[in-house]
Amino acid sequence: MEPFVTMGLVLKETQYREADRILTILTPKLGVISALAKNSMRVTNKLFSGCGLFCYSEFTLVKGRSMYVVQEADVENVFYDVSKSLEGVGVAMYLAEMTYTLSPTGQEAEKELRLLLNCLYMISKGKVDPRVVKAVFELRTMSECGFMPQLACCRDCGAYEGDMFYLDVQEGHLLCADCAAKAGKSCNLDLGALYALRHICLVDDKKIFAFKISLGSLAKLSAVAEHYALVHLDKPLKSYSFLKSVLP
Ligand SMILES: [Zn+2]
Repeated sequence: MEPFVTMGLVLKETQYREADRILTILTPKLGVISALAKNSMRVTNKLFSGCGLFCYSEFTLVKGRSMYVVQEADVENVFYDVSKSLEGVGVAMYLAEMTYTLSPTGQEAEKELRLLLNCLYMISKGKVDPRVVKAVFELRTMSECGFMPQLACCRDCGAYEGDMFYLDVQEGHLLCADCAAKAGKSCNLDLGALYALRHICLVDDKKIFAFKISLGSLAKLSAVAEHYALVHLDKPLKSYSFLKSVLP
């Protein structure tokens, strides 16, 4: 097999044998792949610096019997700074696990890759609340996977605005306060959270972080976004309990 070159972001690294690593890499064209990086845990090895967790590198890969084998890894960016805070690490690990849980191998994943790189950048710069990054990722990634909630208006009466709304996380539709009360549901969104929800799901991806939200609305948005993501995942994420311990 001929070697080929691809950009890729390391989502997970697992030690294998004495100094090898098995990497889970998100690539734009092949989706999530596994690759063996021989001897890459040795500091003197040429693969050492480009194969670590959250490295965005240019990989030269060759197809092996059960997984790809890394021949070269030239690092372009490492998101070291996500580990400046425990909240940052917790969110980054959770987003990475959600990505490799949701992105199947062999499918194009350019949008997922751009979204995750953008989120890791925001976490490492520390300028955006990690809870905002988490909610953006959860809602946007679910929308990209085909679970876009119906956010235009109340499903039952067509109301577009109101102080409070209810998002049904199972069914993905909105109810205004009156229709929610008739249906026996308690509202889980205020107007600020609803605006942010619409922005995150509908705006062009370059502008995805260009919104402001109050702490009160963020608390509502965070709870709804997380619930929405978790009901659409087939299995619980292992990184979730660590995340909750650092970002309750
Ligand atoms: Zn209504």
